[in-house]
Amino acid sequence: MASAPDVSPHPHDFDFSGGDLCLDFVNTVSDRGTGQGEHLAAWPDLTAWGEQAGLLAPADAVRLRGAARRRDAQLARDFHRALALREGLYRVFSTIAAGRAPEARELRELNERIGMTLRHARLVARDGQLAWSWAWTESRSPFDRVVWPVVKSAADRLASPGAADIRECASSTCTWLFVDQSRTKRRRWCSMQTCGNRAKARRFYERRHQTAP
Ligand SMILES: [Zn+2]
Repeated sequence: MASAPDVSPHPHDFDFSGGDLCLDFVNTVSDRGTGQGEHLAAWPDLTAWGEQAGLLAPADAVRLRGAARRRDAQLARDFHRALALREGLYRVFSTIAAGRAPEARELRELNERIGMTLRHARLVARDGQLAWSWAWTESRSPFDRVVWPVVKSAADRLASPGAADIRECASSTCTWLFVDQSRTKRRRWCSMQTCGNRAKARRFYERRHQTAP
């Protein structure tokens, strides 16, 4: 039986500065591989991310919290599939950020997800206008409301000229991804306030110690 995580009264304050929804989703873990920076530890965290991203309506969030309390095994599997998607997207985009083509197997898996996702996409007319928006059909799982737009965002980014603008933070541990929208296309850090500043402070410290008598 799946364990039911506690619903935290103070969900993590997620960051949405990656420049694309799919990259913000990838950035829900920091310092990947250290086991220290996971912000999607359980279902309520994915619900909180979906709410903060504006993807989950309040009614969906309530449904998810209720299901978590009932120890819904299917939703536990859906949650782990969402994490697998996140890590698959990280591998694809991280490889592109390093200037290489993703592995054929990674791309095939993503393409399968794209095929399953876009079956649920529809164009709907905006009220009284000759204009249309993307919408989604009814879903089996409330997590679909979170995962489908992430998959579509990844497909749109990869099919655009901006695919080459994806970067991975130059910190040796951070692993956050972002779209480089700088004029010179030489942005190195996910954020100057965090990783950029830490690198600057380290360089300053090293210089002082090298020049010290
Ligand atoms: Zn960083």
